[in-house]
Amino acid sequence: MKVLVVGGAGYIGSHTVYELVRAGHEVVVLDNLSTGSAANVHPQAHFEWGDIRRKSDIARVLAAEAETGTPVDVVMHFAAKLIVPESVSEPLAYYENNVEGLRTLLEALVEGGVRSIVFSSTAAVYGEPTSSECHEGDATEPINPYGETKLACERMLKWAAAAYGLDYCILRYFNVAGADASLEIGLDKDRLTHLVPLLMQAALGIRDKLLVFGNDYATPDGTCIRDYVHVTDLARAHVLGAQHLLTNRASVLANLGSGRGFSVKEVVDAARDIFEVPFEYAPRRPGDPAKLIACIDHARETLGWEPEHDLHSILKSDYDFRRKLMLAHRPQAERRCGGTEG
Ligand code: UDP
Repeated sequence: MKVLVVGGAGYIGSHTVYELVRAGHEVVVLDNLSTGSAANVHPQAHFEWGDIRRKSDIARVLAAEAETGTPVDVVMHFAAKLIVPESVSEPLAYYENNVEGLRTLLEALVEGGVRSIVFSSTAAVYGEPTSSECHEGDATEPINPYGETKLACERMLKWAAAAYGLDYCILRYFNVAGADASLEIGLDKDRLTHLVPLLMQAALGIRDKLLVFGNDYATPDGTCIRDYVHVTDLARAHVLGAQHLLTNRASVLANLGSGRGFSVKEVVDAARDIFEVPFEYAPRRPGDPAKLIACIDHARETLGWEPEHDLHSILKSDYDFRRKLMLAHRPQAERRCGGTEG
């Protein structure tokens, strides 16, 4: 299949491009490089600079591909803003980029004759779940503008699909981390509110220590429980999602996690089996639910997807990628961080 990956120069987008290329698919990446980097784009993918908020950028790429005789079969959309605190301080920027961005993209797809779209959504659409395991049919009540814009996008997709004969695969991500086995790509900059990047910074000596937010939650060790999924597993689900759309012409909405929960303390302990992580307990962070775990039965049954990487593999690959990147930029850092790779 030929896939247009919008936002394919970012973290999850670039990993998906790697998986698409490995599976033998043709890939065109459209990205405005606002947060991503052209260096993340697989050398076998064709790169076009463009912005999803400008319909002419998308139309130009779709028309050029159609002229080659093999038009784009499916679009994957990763070009969204995703930092929760930023969404709280700049909600209108989130509505413009995420909601208006999807609206423009859909208009271009309808006019360009592309029927299938794989869309990145998030566990943040559930808000503060009342049950610890999230199912796709659960109530959706986002508690921040980021989750709210993703839910608005999900609803837009449903209405647009019904009106224009599109089919969609909406994937709700839980806690994504890790790096591609090649260590050519990984998460190198943003998301510095998230546990794994901050833990890695503490391990690599970029910050003094990790603060573990709260050890008085109603969980076995008192720290919050989350569901961590390897970015390569997540990427593979997108490839399966696209194939599902083209084969079955039936829309899907599925959670993507590992189906297993780990407490923050368990993540820190798993990391400390591989490298040193200075940490200390700190007060709770506002807005953190105690426990968020995905039920992934639907992705298993509909897409035939099964996560293959465990927590160790997530942490090890993430650490190895960041260490490689850091040493490339700051050779003296090796002496300071004293990493003990397992
Ligand atoms: N967390 C932490 N220290 C940090 C960052 C996060 O203890 O420096 C905790 C956070 O309170 C939550 C869990 O790690 O319980 C996962 O947080 P993250 O921001 O990675 O993802 P979220 O589940 O909030 O989207």
